[in-house]
Amino acid sequence: IARQAGENITHIYNPQLHGKAIDHLRLENELRHAISHGELKVFYQPVVSATDGAIAGSESLVRWQHPERGLLAPCHFIPLAESAGLIHAIDLWIFRESCRQYREWILHGGSASMFISVNISVQSLDISWADQILKAVAEFGIPPESIHLEITESVFAGDIEKIIGLLEQLAGLGISFAIDDFGTGYSCFSYLRRLPASCLKIDKAFIDDIVDHEKARALVRSIIHMAHDLGMNIIAEGIENKEQAAILASLGADYMQGYYFGRPLAAEDCDMSAGRRLPG
Ligand code: C2E
Ligand code: MG
Ligand code: MG
Ligand code: MG
Repeated sequence: IARQAGENITHIYNPQLHGKAIDHLRLENELRHAISHGELKVFYQPVVSATDGAIAGSESLVRWQHPERGLLAPCHFIPLAESAGLIHAIDLWIFRESCRQYREWILHGGSASMFISVNISVQSLDISWADQILKAVAEFGIPPESIHLEITESVFAGDIEKIIGLLEQLAGLGISFAIDDFGTGYSCFSYLRRLPASCLKIDKAFIDDIVDHEKARALVRSIIHMAHDLGMNIIAEGIENKEQAAILASLGADYMQGYYFGRPLAAEDCDMSAGRRLPG
């Protein structure tokens, strides 16, 4: 039995929990190693224009090519990276790699008007991060207007004044922000007005029911109206079929993303040619 200092919590020794803690520690060490040994990969998922299906941009999604466990999705290591203080390094690596890949696409037939969208955890948002973002943008020669950074509603739980200041600084240089997973987290409508975000991403949870449930459609319709009234664009996430795509287009979504248009793929499997329309 162990008693944590200053807390009135008693932990009874539990061999199963102990096993879990060791697993956790091992994974944390492996993750440190993964970052420096090139085991992280970026997968890219197309984002299309809702009007004609033309590729408008791409979202970078991290994967971990684990030597024994195979290709791991972010849910298996992002929360760990966040709690272990490793997320800053991961987010920055993904960002830099995405800039490099973007330049590659533009040089080889991609549309110069496409954007790249990169997810950033709230823990990564600090001054050194903003500097590193700007450094990478300059180093790879990317127009800041082509960069979208996706943040979630969890920023509302952080030091919001500081975060707004940082985002405004980058927004002033042309980088834009999207609020990811909108509607699933800790939303605060008054901050929506103050955050310099130009895009709302409607979470898949709302899209799933949109064909069969009028209330789901009503919610999405209202979110789209609200976003447009605030001068923001809408990306609908998690579109898996034609029916959903048709409804989102009729409700006025600006962009769409989902398996129906394309799954996240390694760069070598992506075709981001200018003018390409999806589904192919
Ligand atoms: P997200 O940013 O909301 O990304 C969308 C997730 O939905 C991705 O999962 C994507 O593969 C999945 N998805 C896209 N279209 C469909 C669809 O039609 N059907 C279904 N069922 N799923 C679809 P993924 O790649 O597993 O990423 C999960 C989350 O992990 C992301 O959610 C994001 O919050 C986080 N994440 C991914 N990469 C990074 C990163 O580089 N940094 C940080 N901080 N977080 C990341
Ligand atoms: Mg995202
Ligand atoms: Mg999302
Ligand atoms: Mg998500």
